Amino acid sequence: MAAIDPGWNQFNFGAGIVVAPGSTAEVALVVGICSRHAVPIVPQGGRTGLVGGSVSKIGEVVLSLGRMNRIERLDPVERVAVVEAGVTLAALQAAALDEGLEPGIDLAARGSATIGGMVSTNAGGVMAFRNGVMRHRVLGLEAVLADGSVFSDLTRVVKNSAGYDLKHLFIGAEGTLGIITRIVLKLDPMPRATATAMFGLPTVGAALETIRLALNSEAGHLRAAEALWRSYIKLTASAHGWSEPGFDLDQPICLLLSLGGGREEALCDEFERIFAQVLECFPESTGIVAGSRRQENDLWRLREDTDILYRTHPAAPSYDVSVPLSEIDDYVSRVLAGFCAIEPDLSPYLFGHLADGNLHIVLNRQGPLAESTAAAVESVLYEDIRAIGGSFSAEHGVGSKRIHSLLATADPTKLSAMECVKRALDGQHMMNPGKVLRPPL
Ligand SMILES: Cc1cc2nc3c(=O)[nH]c(=O)nc-3n(C[C@H](O)[C@H](O)[C@H](O)COP(=O)(O)OP(=O)(O)OC[C@H]3O[C@@H](n4cnc5c(N)ncnc54)[C@H](O)[C@@H]3O)c2cc1C
Repeated sequence: MAAIDPGWNQFNFGAGIVVAPGSTAEVALVVGICSRHAVPIVPQGGRTGLVGGSVSKIGEVVLSLGRMNRIERLDPVERVAVVEAGVTLAALQAAALDEGLEPGIDLAARGSATIGGMVSTNAGGVMAFRNGVMRHRVLGLEAVLADGSVFSDLTRVVKNSAGYDLKHLFIGAEGTLGIITRIVLKLDPMPRATATAMFGLPTVGAALETIRLALNSEAGHLRAAEALWRSYIKLTASAHGWSEPGFDLDQPICLLLSLGGGREEALCDEFERIFAQVLECFPESTGIVAGSRRQENDLWRLREDTDILYRTHPAAPSYDVSVPLSEIDDYVSRVLAGFCAIEPDLSPYLFGHLADGNLHIVLNRQGPLAESTAAAVESVLYEDIRAIGGSFSAEHGVGSKRIHSLLATADPTKLSAMECVKRALDGQHMMNPGKVLRPPL
């Protein structure tokens, strides 16, 4: 086991024992044996989860889906894939591309993150503003329940009103209600061409207006709109030695945009047209359009290489909030002022999926924070998040790390309904105990 990478959390293999079944029948067998001997199970996919959902301890068994990595069906007519849970996003993207299709969801951990793990965390990523999150991509799924029985709903159709749509219980449950073994996913046509541009802008409002212009694009459709606030892009640009004549890294916010369509030249022209319109309203803006695949990759690396943050500030505390678009500007101002009141030089690196209001916030501090500082930070971040219509956990889940935040911010009726569901499907807390909900004392 020493040879297996523990992934994003050093405690993922705390249990000291991993089983890796090769089929749904074998998963059911393992679950049945564990159930008879009251041994809790921690499911694991690619171990890229960021909220401690895969951590395990002595007395538990890690169940890895890594061997269940077959793409069983990829149908260009149905535009549907049927995959085992351990298929990585990158493997599905590559297979879909061969048929001119894509999964319609993308994130930087694509090389390791599995479809089963992404369904379990209800992952979002860069295309969610357009295509929805994982919940909106799943047509059907199969899961092994705590007693070893198999829930099977592998429908391959969009429309299905046949009673309660129970697959949604397992999506975003982070392995606490069952082990997902197979998934049916919608696929979308891959555009023939893509183009990427980055604009340096004076305000969040300017960035949102630029997104609006790009959404109304005539030559293509918007595929991604990622925001990088100044401190974040300055850090990644400096780490990668990136600069571009005429592009001002001192702008308050940079916006990375990707368009998809029929012809690359037309998409680049469209970016020039959008930039001209942006300049009319915000003359201090700067912009570049990637002229080659290498330039495009360089721009994306500035956004996706979040590792740099954690190399600069080991174990830096990080947060993942969703904020309605019209509230983002005020929210960010409140957070900056609130952090400053905690400690004058406490400040966040801010970046995220601006088009859907998902902000990632990483502190300029080595973690973990002192308990009182952590509480003060969370109070600033979460105090009014529900009241303004946002969420303390946008796309990473609750795991073991954010249970206290769920308890602090969730509607009490929702919490008790969640506990009822857990009791009904896993009353003994054998499935990923200590994640999402606390086990009863
Ligand atoms: C660099 C980086 C960038 C990222 N970017 C994004 C992003 O843009 N958007 C986003 O949403 N997330 C992002 N993430 C988070 C992460 O990639 C997702 O949480 C991913 O969905 C987890 O997949 P996984 O296979 O690694 O699951 P794991 O980390 O192994 O598990 C995650 C959770 O799901 C459970 N689980 C795993 N497989 C199963 C299964 N088959 N059945 C039941 N439960 C299961 C685990 O018990 C755990 O609770 C990023 C992570 C990194 C490291």
